[in-house]
Amino acid sequence: MRYVKLPKENTYEFLERLKDWGRLYAPVKISEKFYDFREVEDVRNVEFHYNRTIMPPKKFFFLPREKMFEFSISKAEYRETIENVEPFVLFGLHACDIHGLKIMDTIYLDEFPDKYYKVRREKGIIIGISCMPDEYCFCNLRETDFADDGFDLFLHELPDGWLIRVGTPMGHRIVDKSIKLFEEVTTQDICAFREFENKRANAFKYHEDWGNLRYLLELEMEHPMWDEQSELCLACGNCNLVCPTCRCYEVIDFPNLDGDTGYRERRWDSCQLRSHGLVAGGHNFRPTKKDRFMNRYLCKNSYNEKLGISYCVGCGRCTYFCPAEISFVENLRTILGIDEKSCPSEISEEIPKRGFAYSSNLGGEGL
Ligand code: SF4
Ligand code: SF4
Repeated sequence: MRYVKLPKENTYEFLERLKDWGRLYAPVKISEKFYDFREVEDVRNVEFHYNRTIMPPKKFFFLPREKMFEFSISKAEYRETIENVEPFVLFGLHACDIHGLKIMDTIYLDEFPDKYYKVRREKGIIIGISCMPDEYCFCNLRETDFADDGFDLFLHELPDGWLIRVGTPMGHRIVDKSIKLFEEVTTQDICAFREFENKRANAFKYHEDWGNLRYLLELEMEHPMWDEQSELCLACGNCNLVCPTCRCYEVIDFPNLDGDTGYRERRWDSCQLRSHGLVAGGHNFRPTKKDRFMNRYLCKNSYNEKLGISYCVGCGRCTYFCPAEISFVENLRTILGIDEKSCPSEISEEIPKRGFAYSSNLGGEGL
């Protein structure tokens, strides 16, 4: 890998030069507490120290709402309306969000490439940036706190600039085109990089083993946490919208008044909404709020075989932006048995056999 240093005084010049490669999007402060990726005109508005944006970077590749094609019934034809996407630069992604995009790639690019996603992914330049965790971050437990790939450039903060890892040929071209802005990395810079990474590792709130989580979630389907917490849930779907790896969508046809033509659109869906599990004939696979609440926890904690990580990258958004103040991470810790609510101190006849109830549902004989 190639490493270069960007002195702090060249930071804004570097951002300005990034516009040569396409529209520049970066995190900006949009209110007292919130940040979001927005197109940047004045590079001095870019936020380098933020914890999480409201919307994750997936919104640039998998649009919240997208017209797919127009159709005509009488002509028995349809015309795809896929846009001609211009190159763009996405600056300031944290490691967890880069992992989120890698997860999205396994879904939308691997087996059956999604052309709407693919065309944007090919045009997007990804520039990562280091961060310091707050109390909502748990990417360290998800092994998504450092990105080895998935970026063109990655900036690590130094006291007097940025140590940059160059990840792709595009990254090399960006550096080479503005080579006068960069310097060689010194021993002092390496020490500062190491110091920052150590400080960051210690700044995470949680340091524990989550290796058994996905098994415990399956075993603990009758845990009282599900009733208690799903009762609080408003079924608003916010947690899905802000999640960098939630990728469900619904498809809707919009017929025109001529009764012949129209168009089809897809838009983000949420497994927390009652309509999500509804199928033809009126059957609903997840009719209750509790069913849907549990579904999200199981889905997010399932395992992406290709990447060897879970579908949750530990960004903390679903907790931070939940209007009911439900803590995803604390609920998982309850299931893991990290707090005192998980297991009774003494076994008695009244204690429900939680694992047994689950396997009975499957027609088994219990554990
Ligand atoms: S954001 Fe919170 S209240 Fe809304 S559906 Fe998700 S868990 Fe429930
Ligand atoms: S489940 Fe929550 S913490 Fe995990 S990636 Fe999604 S929004 Fe982030």
